[in-house]
Amino acid sequence: MTMERARRLQQLPPYLFAELDRLKAEQVRKGVDVISLGISDPDLPTPPHIVERLKAAAEDAANHRYPSYEGLREFREAVARWYRQRFGVDLDPETEVFALIGSKEGIAHFPLAFLNPGDSALVPSPGYPVYHAGTVFAGATPHTVPLRPAQGFLPDLGAIPEVAARQAKLLFLNYPNNPTAAVAEVAFFEQVVAYAQAHHFIVAHDAAYSEIAFDGYRPASFLQARGAKEVGIEFHSLSKTYNMTGWRVGFAVGHPELIAALGQVKTNVDSGVFQAVQEAGIAALDGDQGCVEEMRRTYQERRDLLLQGLREVGLKAEVPRASFYVWAEVPPGYTSAKLTTHLLLNAGIAVTPGNGFGPEGEGFVRMALTVDRARIAETVERMRKVGF
Ligand SMILES: *Cc1c(COP(=O)(O)O)cnc(C)c1O
Repeated sequence: MTMERARRLQQLPPYLFAELDRLKAEQVRKGVDVISLGISDPDLPTPPHIVERLKAAAEDAANHRYPSYEGLREFREAVARWYRQRFGVDLDPETEVFALIGSKEGIAHFPLAFLNPGDSALVPSPGYPVYHAGTVFAGATPHTVPLRPAQGFLPDLGAIPEVAARQAKLLFLNYPNNPTAAVAEVAFFEQVVAYAQAHHFIVAHDAAYSEIAFDGYRPASFLQARGAKEVGIEFHSLSKTYNMTGWRVGFAVGHPELIAALGQVKTNVDSGVFQAVQEAGIAALDGDQGCVEEMRRTYQERRDLLLQGLREVGLKAEVPRASFYVWAEVPPGYTSAKLTTHLLLNAGIAVTPGNGFGPEGEGFVRMALTVDRARIAETVERMRKVGF
């Protein structure tokens, strides 16, 4: 018997946070009150009207059986209504919408539907690690597309080698972006569509943070771009919009062939989303969006407090227009790892080193706005004390 792990696991990039996790656990054990700005999980609860709908739906025995693979017709219709209202995009709930057990699940499975061993996918760096892992699990090769500050952390399409673009079957994008907090406009998405059409690849856009934006800004859907549905699929999640990370519900929308192929993979892997959770999802999408407005206000207040503090202590960061992240530059004399260790050991503050999202993230750390204002004020106070 051999317990040697499959090459697909061995090929994953090293987990850079292991040593950091150990240091953090050690600090906590020593009694240090660690402020964690490393957490990509909203600290606020799911709005009560959504919880109430789950409670009622959980009592209904019709919901105790296996759900359909694609999701309740009513859930897919609610998604289509929401897309129409929010983005002005029309979707056929029958063929262009598919329920997911969280968008991470759909993103990870999607490459299995289209990539063969030997194929390649264009994967942004820094980026959400699932694009890379999903590509590797399909036996394909990730080709890194660097996101750089000079381009506003948008991929420089013209700089992608012609061979790589021609060989790629798939491009991953994510705006508003984790970890850089960058945003993309419809005009950029239209350039991507033209580029994808010219090179015959699929575009998979991850829109998990589309509803978390500030100062009245409303991020675009990739599907708002002309021709996008001909080449693309968009992954969406209720996790961040409605503080529902634990519930595991999201959805994919886009070209019927892309949706059907993802569905074929999923039919062989999972058995759908608990119907009571889908009913709660309908309550979220169809209900009063005041809770989302309130959440935006909360993150915006935290953002403003943290950004002002960072300026005072001499750390540089762009003011994010969306997402709940601040992507801060490391000061001279530091690397991402060195700044992270300094903050953890000397100030009891946990941040995420940028290089953990790919080598192109070196020189930055990510701070999540998922702690309350008192903790942010305390963060700034501690940074002021330790200095850089
Ligand atoms: C949080 C997050 C998701 C959402 O994951 P779910 O599986 O829907 O909870 C997707 N993409 C990115 C970039 C994220 O940060």
